[in-house]
Amino acid sequence: MMIDVDRDHEEIRDAVMRLCAPFDDAYWQRLDREMAYPDAFVAALSEAGFLGALIPEEHGGSGLSLRAATVILETIHAAGCNAAACHAQMYIMGTILRHGSAAQKVNYLPKIATGALRLQAFGVTEPTSGTDTAALRTRAERTADGWLVNGQKVWTSRAKQSDLMLLLARTTPIERVQRRTDGLSTFLVDLREAVGRGVEIRPIEAMINHNTNEVFIADLHLPEDALVGEEGRGFRYILDGMNAERILIASECIGDARWFLERASAYARERRVFGRPIGQNQGIQFPLARALAETEAAELMVRKAAALFDAGEPCGPEANMAKHLASEASWHAGEAAMQTHGGYAFATDYAIERKWRETRLYQIAPVSTNLILAFLAHRVLGLPKSY
Ligand SMILES: Cc1cc2nc3c(=O)[nH]c(=O)nc-3n(C[C@H](O)[C@H](O)[C@H](O)COP(=O)(O)OP(=O)(O)OC[C@H]3O[C@@H](n4cnc5c(N)ncnc54)[C@H](O)[C@@H]3O)c2cc1C
Repeated sequence: MMIDVDRDHEEIRDAVMRLCAPFDDAYWQRLDREMAYPDAFVAALSEAGFLGALIPEEHGGSGLSLRAATVILETIHAAGCNAAACHAQMYIMGTILRHGSAAQKVNYLPKIATGALRLQAFGVTEPTSGTDTAALRTRAERTADGWLVNGQKVWTSRAKQSDLMLLLARTTPIERVQRRTDGLSTFLVDLREAVGRGVEIRPIEAMINHNTNEVFIADLHLPEDALVGEEGRGFRYILDGMNAERILIASECIGDARWFLERASAYARERRVFGRPIGQNQGIQFPLARALAETEAAELMVRKAAALFDAGEPCGPEANMAKHLASEASWHAGEAAMQTHGGYAFATDYAIERKWRETRLYQIAPVSTNLILAFLAHRVLGLPKSY
């Protein structure tokens, strides 16, 4: 049974489902045990062209809509896999596409589309600034032939599995800018050259197998053309990519929720206690039914946000609401699946606890629930900004 009331992009869904089939619970469980990167899974997705979905055809990608990209990620998650290992390959390139020079587009986009060049790492968060991005301390100073960068990033996911990293650094001191979000710039760092020559990457042991890292930057020399777009406009460039990121991440949550609901319903139909299926008890049914309703409602918001994005319309509130509602739906579905499985929810073989840990992340990263609510309160409800 497939829980999904209104399927679109059937061909993409079927192709992604087929691709995901060999990457079963045992595969992800082994990676989890070894804290290893899903190389084979990422290679299969790249070869099939799914990670180049948003790159226009003229740059070697498939030029699909954001809606089609959400279907890819949703299906990966509904199949029990995890796209977090590679989803950034889909959207970080947006900064190059929208703001990069003609040379950067020609040099990078076709190779990113095929996966020959991995642009998976995104260095924004820092230990001392956290959510307050404008307060970041990594500095890039002009030199005779480029830039000298010093600073530190944290939670830089996939830095060890990426050839390039998009880095946000301050190029004008905060005391000298009009708005604190001015004076930040985006750079493309070639990690193949930079590691050992100014960049050190240290993995962080984390609750989920997310391949995330601390990145230490000391006297890193970058060439002039590492700068993406105009100097000082980096914060705006990062914001430009956020709606797409939120909508894509929301679709992963929808996939997780569907996976939880299918697994839990199947278990509830089969598991017999007191001489009847546990699914006959409303105490088991209702949390699952409630999570189903939440998932379908959240998915409508994902579709609305993606439709606005694809039409080139403003979609900040919808993208934020989609991410919020979908992350809540997947968490509630995960909680219901945990309770339905009873003690077996804790057995790694059932995969419920792995997905439950994984789906919890979405309320914290890439943006925490509080910041989404603050955005809606401020931008939509017209309430005073709290920070
Ligand atoms: C597994 C993982 C992978 C990640 N990958 C990346 C990555 O690849 N690249 C990257 O740059 N970052 C990444 N992040 C970082 C992530 O985006 C941040 O953790 C997140 O934005 C929150 O920042 P913080 O952890 O510093 O929390 P803090 O900023 O310290 O906030 C802590 C809590 O306080 C709340 N809070 C703070 N200020 C306010 C306010 N004004 N009003 C209300 N509540 C507030 C927050 O919402 C949060 O709940 C990742 C994080 C994790 C856990």
